[in-house]
Formats: sequence, C-alpha cells, structure tokens
Amino acid sequence: MDQLSDIAQHLLRFSPDALIVVDAGGRIRFANRTVTDLFGYAPEQLLDKPLETLIPERLRGKHVSHLTAYLNKPGNREMGARIADLFARRADGSEFAAGIRLAPFKIGSNLFVAAAIRDNTERQQINEALIAAREEADRANRAKSRFLATASHDLRQPIQTIRLLNAAMLKISRPDLRELLQQQERAIEGMTRMLNALLDISRLESGAIEPQVVDVPLADTLHQLTTEFESVAQARGIRLRIEPAALVVSTDRNLFYQLLQNLVGNALKYTDQGEVKVSCVPGSSALTITVSDTGIGIPADKLDRIFDEYYQVDTQGAKRMGVGLGLAIVKEVARLLGFSVSINSRVGEGTQAVVSIPNQYLTLVQAAEDSTASAEPAGGATRRSRVLLVEDNDGVRLATELFLRFEGFHVESAPSAAEAETLFAKFQRGDVIVADYHLDGRNTGLELLTRLRQRLGYDAPGVVLSGDLPSVLRSLRTPVPNCRFLSKPVDTSALLDAIDELSAPAQSDAQRSGLARS
Ligand code: ADP
Repeated sequence: MDQLSDIAQHLLRFSPDALIVVDAGGRIRFANRTVTDLFGYAPEQLLDKPLETLIPERLRGKHVSHLTAYLNKPGNREMGARIADLFARRADGSEFAAGIRLAPFKIGSNLFVAAAIRDNTERQQINEALIAAREEADRANRAKSRFLATASHDLRQPIQTIRLLNAAMLKISRPDLRELLQQQERAIEGMTRMLNALLDISRLESGAIEPQVVDVPLADTLHQLTTEFESVAQARGIRLRIEPAALVVSTDRNLFYQLLQNLVGNALKYTDQGEVKVSCVPGSSALTITVSDTGIGIPADKLDRIFDEYYQVDTQGAKRMGVGLGLAIVKEVARLLGFSVSINSRVGEGTQAVVSIPNQYLTLVQAAEDSTASAEPAGGATRRSRVLLVEDNDGVRLATELFLRFEGFHVESAPSAAEAETLFAKFQRGDVIVADYHLDGRNTGLELLTRLRQRLGYDAPGVVLSGDLPSVLRSLRTPVPNCRFLSKPVDTSALLDAIDELSAPAQSDAQRSGLARS
C-alpha cells in the first residue's frame, strides 16, 4: 500500500505533463514538478495564485468566461480542442502553444479541476506546416486547372481548322487517299473529345461554373439522349432503351445533360452486346435515374477509384476511347447540382450508375407535351442555299468556306463584324448566316444576327458557333428562334444538318423553333 502511494507521489511529481489542480474559485491548489520545466515557476510559487498567472494577459478576459462556463458544466475534456490559439504564459512572460486536458473531481462537497498541460509548440508547427502545404497544393491545383482551361480553349481554333480541311479533302480526294483521311478524321475526333473533357473538368474544378437553375422537363433530356446515342447504339449492335418520365427537374439544363451524357456514353463504350437502359424511379425522398448496361463491368477493387481524374481500369488490352475524365466530370457536376451518384458493377455482367435527385428539385407534370419534336433534323434537304459566313480567325474562315463549297453551298464571308454589315446587306430569303459568337470586344455573332433580323423584320436563319457554348447558352434569356448553336471545334455533319434544317423549304421562317443544340 505504502509502495503504491510512493508510486502515485512519483507519478504526480515527474509526470511528463505539467499537472495543476484549481479550486472552484480558480486558485491553484497543487502543482507538480514538471510545472517548473514548462512554466519556470517552482510549484510553491504557484500555490494559492489565481490560474490567470499562467495565462497570457491578452487572453485573460476570455479565460475567465471559459472557466466559469466549465465550472457550471464540468466534465473530462480537452480544452479548446477546436481553438487553434490556446496559449500559456511562462514566468518570464514568454508564451507557448498549450494542449490542456481537464478532469473535474470532488473532495467532500468541494469541486476541483485537475489540468494536464503540455507544450504543443511542435505539434502546432507541424499543423501550420500541413495547412501551408495544403494551401500550396490547392493553389497549384487551381493554377493547373486555369492552365488546362486556357490551353484546351486555345487549341480549339486550330483543331477546328484541321477538322474542316480534313472534311473538305475527304470530299475531293482520290479513293485510295480517302481511307487515310478517314483515319485522320477519327484521330481528330478523339482529340476534340479529349479537349472538351479537359476543358470541362478544368472549368468545373476552378469554380468557374455556376449552375443556372431552370425547370427542365425530364422528357426533353431523355429525348436529347435518344437523339444523340441512338445511332451509336445501332452501329454497335446494342439495344438502347430510354424509359419515359413525366417529371420536371429544377436544375442547370446543360450540366444535368452533361452528367447523363457521360454515363450513357460510358455504358455504350464499355458494352459489346446486349442492352443499355435508362430508367427513372420516383422514391419517398429522391428520384433515382439508373443507367444500366450489360457490358464488361468493373472489378470490385477498382470501384472506389473510378471517379478519380485520369483513372482508367485496365481493360485487358481492349482498345477504349476516353481519357479517364468522364466520371470525374460526373462527380463534380453531381456535387454542383446537389445530386449523388454511385456505381455498382459486376465483372462480365454489367454496370449500374445510379443518380439520386432529392425530391426538393422535382415537380410532377401532366402527360408531357411533346416539346421535343423540333429537335429532329430535317435531313435530305437539298444543299444549295447561300451561306453568309462571319469568322474572324483566318484559318477557320478559309477552312469553313472550303468545306461548305465542297458540300455544294455558295459561300460569301466576312472577317470582322464591320465587314459583316456590308455582307449582310446582300442577304436574301433562303440564305443562312453562319457566325462565330466571339468576334471582337464589341460585337457577338448573335448580336449581328439580331440586328439583321430587326432590319429585315423577320427571323433570318442563323447558326452561331462558339468555343464556350455552355456560357453562351447560359447567357441567353429566351430561346432564339430559327437559330442553332453549335460547339467549336464544330462537328461537320452537325453543321450541315443545321444549315439544311434551317433552309428546308417545307417550313416557314416563323414556324421554326430555336432549340439550342450542342
Ligand atoms: P474514360 O474516359 O476512360 O471512359 P471515365 O472517368 O468515364 O473515363 O471512367 C473511368 C473508368 O471506369 C473507365 O476507364 C472504365 O474502365 C470504367 N468504367 C466507367 N463506366 C463503365 C461502364 N459502364 N462499364 C465498365 N467500365 C466502366
């Protein structure tokens, strides 16, 4: 027993923490030897002194209110666990970052609090170094995103030129050269896809995208998916089943589409036979949109990495298109829109991507009106109309002119907004305007088109091209009738479809609606 009490005495004296006991009045009633190492006071010097003796003057006011609050509700706890600036004062007036644990106890009816105090200077320095390293990494990451956004954006013009020239050469070249050009076309398409993904992820990451929330009929989005992927599925011999849903989602139209577009695109990419299905099931707290496929599946040990940037599962040498950014984009977009996304999969059986949209973003609609009919291209129209082209990049303008001429159009062009006014003076019914959106600091292609329309008194057909289509679409307050919006580098067949559709003689100018298509 005596031995035990000796041990207790030694422990108290030489504990690695400074130990102090204060009474309910905040006076020090005990201090062990370690206090001398930490504070520079002999234990006897502290007896009956107020606890404030050990607290820097600048913090004493705060300390009194903390102590009163603690004594009202005492308990074992770390003091100021969430306060970064917990400091103690040494006898010589210097300060150190302190870690303090408190434990209350009673002798008879008297309340005491034991405090174990240690010097946290090193820990705090490590913390500060970690915070600084984290901030540095965040800064570097933002700089990388900005660089990627700028680089991928600036690369769009030259790729646009190459793409158009390639399409023009395909038109005129000898049959033996055609196969080479077709291969080149596929490479250009791959490069365009890669650039678009890089631009999307860097914009999302740099915080440059703010969702523009509007009411989006789910039926429209599903129809758009069908339009985009039907032919891809057909070409791959896969059944694409998109089930209807009569709901309206309050969300950003383009980001929402981009999210589903990536999931359906992946499902088709990683499926060689069977079916890709999109189904929507309302639930008590959320709508679940499931994109399921009967494809190759994802190994269980890879599932937690597939949302990482640039991560791709090794598909045993199978040639896959993509850069490993699709799901990183899906994750970022879902975060921005307030949705959640998860993926279940079994190797050899298939994959289900599940998007959960909380009910707060949903409203039910009556049997959906067919608001999507106008998205179908007219197709098959004769391409003989005249195109008035406004493009300030010389390479892109020449390539577009060449390409359209080979496709049978009569083309006249202007390299600037000022010259476009002269060009537009020649406008006749049946002509189609094709204009770059970003022309100079003062005019956009859309503004030129609008001015022409005001002068003519009717909605002359127009195609507006932009390297930053999502921002352009977001800036539109109302749909622009009889006008198509296309992304740069432009998909050559989408450009032809748009011109054909706008110049189709079957419809009057007033009848055509202006659904924006990317
Ligand atoms: P990628 O551009 O390679 O398609 P993603 O970020 O979209 O990149 O996807 C990451 C990886 O997850 C892909 O490389 C692929 O291995 C796997 N993956 C994604 N979706 C599917 C799917 N539906 N079926 C099988 N594997 C998939």
